[in-house]
Amino acid sequence: MDKRLSKQFIDQQRKKMEEDKKKILLHIEELKKNDPFSDPDHASDNAAVDTDVREQVGHDTIEAQIKDLQRRILDIDLALKKILKGTYGICEKCGEPIPLPRIELIPEARFCVVCEEQLRK
Ligand SMILES: [Zn+2]
Repeated sequence: MDKRLSKQFIDQQRKKMEEDKKKILLHIEELKKNDPFSDPDHASDNAAVDTDVREQVGHDTIEAQIKDLQRRILDIDLALKKILKGTYGICEKCGEPIPLPRIELIPEARFCVVCEEQLRK
């Protein structure tokens, strides 16, 4: 277990992530409702081509947003598992402790800043 982290701090982080997860799930539901493709009349409507293009763009944007949110949920689930395993707060790549301000900001962070930047390249 990361010795810097008190049980209290970890409890806080867990609550934060559980709250975030609920919010994200609601957000996904909202996005799905706004997806023009979820409209049951869509397939049968004979809208002009430009409307279809706009709907396609709207659908793609919403789908991309949903994917991002789902990835965050996976990260949160992973972080919650790490709390149980006692590896929370440790960078998955280099095994060094992730700086506290970073996990306060992003409780589900999987990597330290250095590794995260390397992965983005
Ligand atoms: Zn690292």
